[in-house]
Amino acid sequence: MEFKNSQKLYNKGLVNLVGAVNSPVRAFASVGGNPLFIKKAKGSKITDVDGNSYVDLVLSYGPMILGHRHKKVQKAITKALKNGYSFGASTKNEIKLAKIVCDAFPGMDKVRFVNSGTEAVLSGIRLARAFTGKDKIIKFSGCYHGHQDALLVAAGSGLATLSLPGSKGVPEGAVKNTLIANYNDLDSVKAHFEEHDDIAGVILEPVAGNMGVVTPQNNFLKELKAYLESKGALLIVDEVMTGFRSKFGGAQELFDVEADITCLGKVIGGGFPVGAYGASNEIMEMVAPLGGMYQAGTLSGNPIAMAGGIATLTELKRQNPYERFNEVAQIIEVFLLESAKKYGVEITVNRFGSMINPFFTNVTVTNFEEAQTSDTKKFATFFWSMMHNGVFLPPSQFEAWFLSSALSEKDIEKIAKAIDKSMEAVSK
Ligand code: PLP
Repeated sequence: MEFKNSQKLYNKGLVNLVGAVNSPVRAFASVGGNPLFIKKAKGSKITDVDGNSYVDLVLSYGPMILGHRHKKVQKAITKALKNGYSFGASTKNEIKLAKIVCDAFPGMDKVRFVNSGTEAVLSGIRLARAFTGKDKIIKFSGCYHGHQDALLVAAGSGLATLSLPGSKGVPEGAVKNTLIANYNDLDSVKAHFEEHDDIAGVILEPVAGNMGVVTPQNNFLKELKAYLESKGALLIVDEVMTGFRSKFGGAQELFDVEADITCLGKVIGGGFPVGAYGASNEIMEMVAPLGGMYQAGTLSGNPIAMAGGIATLTELKRQNPYERFNEVAQIIEVFLLESAKKYGVEITVNRFGSMINPFFTNVTVTNFEEAQTSDTKKFATFFWSMMHNGVFLPPSQFEAWFLSSALSEKDIEKIAKAIDKSMEAVSK
């Protein structure tokens, strides 16, 4: 497999783009080598500029749940394009997508569309503060909520514990109201409430997908919600990754937990830039123009993005692929475990619905600290071998692999063969 054209574009891109990428997760920093440049994608496959074709388990980091260029989505956006691209005024499709989203999440009476997951979360946090009149927010170490200043902490455990900014350029003042707790550890949340009486709420990924896949253990979500209720604090559930992916009603439907504020992104735009935050009428009436919490956006509710979102969610509801996702993830888990055993490689596999990934460790992974025991050098070897065997994975140990409903039996066989070869490569 050759990457000559990607290499050429990478060198060209370095001149006017930072690292030749527009999001650092696309750089191959932790696996070595240079980022891939993509030419096109269709269904379960993605093709790079050298003509190499891969089964895509990145799926644009989640949105492309139906696979690429699904014909119903393509038709809907082509139709929308004919009417114009952006109006700065409301359209019927905003109401339609809002209804689909609110019907899927029982705790949501109203929703506000924004342009990304980052915007959804930063607005959701502002809303929690506006509603409670309190400033502090608890987040969990290893959970990613976009690149807003206040939540760019706990990128690494040392920084996390000290509640120091995880990124240069984030002033201490911006994170002074951010408290860090450990995922799956309610006592670490309680400890903050014992110390502070101005906590507005807790934000979390209901299934974490940004430290690899880490699932909530032993009723963690329900117990957290009950505890927060007793304290008059809000549960802000970041379903940017899990919304419409874990289940149509997100992880909240699966775990039977209702968020006070829900943040969405990725799948709801079907590959176009959309985010959303929503809550009960009582909470959402804080938002301008009904209330005093300001939040706005020139391109929010963009007509092409709305059309893409409606077509994606409508098709997703029709397909109802969630059982199948579980089955396929289980099949991949078995491939991983069996070939690891065959070649004597220690791994732990975590999965949840259509999200899965192996950690190269013998430790059970339930939080960020445990996730970090994974041998990232082994992951890098595994990653490159998977690429050479035709499977595109996120170039990081700490990103989930995503499944699409476009995966065929043939694709699954290809994944199995690639895993076997790659585990062998890791064992050498
Ligand atoms: N929240 C979660 C859970 C995410 O996984 C992400 C992105 O990966 C975000 C928020 C930020 O979304 P975006 O990249 O669309 O700004």
